[in-house]
Amino acid sequence: MSPADAAGPADVVVALDVGGTGMKCALVRPDGTTVHTERHPTDAGRGPDAVVETILDVAEGLAGKARADGRDPVALGIAVPGVVDEAAGVAVWSANVGFRDVPLRGLAEERLGLPTVLGHDVRVGGLAEARLGAGRGTGHVLFVAIGTGIAAAHVVDGAAASGAHGAAGEIGHVLVRPGGPRCGCGRDGCLEAVASASAIARRYAEATGAGPTGTAGDGGPTGTPASAADVADRAAAGEPAAARVWAEAVEALADGLATGQALYDVETVVVGGGLAQAGPRLFDPLRAALHERMTFHRRPRLVAAALGDEAGCLGAALLALDAR
Ligand SMILES: [Zn+2]
Repeated sequence: MSPADAAGPADVVVALDVGGTGMKCALVRPDGTTVHTERHPTDAGRGPDAVVETILDVAEGLAGKARADGRDPVALGIAVPGVVDEAAGVAVWSANVGFRDVPLRGLAEERLGLPTVLGHDVRVGGLAEARLGAGRGTGHVLFVAIGTGIAAAHVVDGAAASGAHGAAGEIGHVLVRPGGPRCGCGRDGCLEAVASASAIARRYAEATGAGPTGTAGDGGPTGTPASAADVADRAAAGEPAAARVWAEAVEALADGLATGQALYDVETVVVGGGLAQAGPRLFDPLRAALHERMTFHRRPRLVAAALGDEAGCLGAALLALDAR
């Protein structure tokens, strides 16, 4: 909460969190309060060049909106998924947005004339949860986002390390089930192949003979495959196949988080992403399974994320505020 130092009364930063389907955008004051939000479709199917143009247009529009409202946009923070070289300001690789070595920071600085920082979506989400959300008040936080995939951010004293190649925190690709289900990365038995929201839906469909769920669409009017949330509901209602798939996911997550705790020894594990919406159906058995796995390690607090899908955008704002 130090960025308020030396801030002008009308200062705001422009923040964008670019996802595979949508962009969450905001104008954020130095004290962390949001004064304006917008959402725009990413439309990643148009290709990376078009997506970059949209990012720059939206950022320029937000800076213009700030000025029109009598505010002073002082910096820009952009969060993107995939592999991000934060030091160089380059979006190195992203499966769902299609980025390949896009020098996004330079492009944005050129277009907007504002100091710009580029961050990784999960790392900045973790930053926001650690500083403003569920990890607030603790110095060592592991933030784990469980959705289509699983990724983590290790935040120490309000900063998330990005690794030597911009790829730190890939806890979804910790091997938890050797010879297990094939992961999107090409290996068998990664955590995210068993316990991501999409893996849970896929494994339930396979277990019940509904067949693979095909593309990751929003579902049709009829015959919509069961989502991970549906599997949690059916498991709670005692349906055997759902209970088995859900329990296997929880056990795999506990293995992955136990590895995280062995490496990082954090005070608080914050779980966010779509799967965290399952609430006690996830957290009660996961906490028990994680604690079972702790031998000499201290048991971390296991809590649900508090900022929802705003975390990435707030984190992008924090990066921009830090960088001013
Ligand atoms: Zn993998």
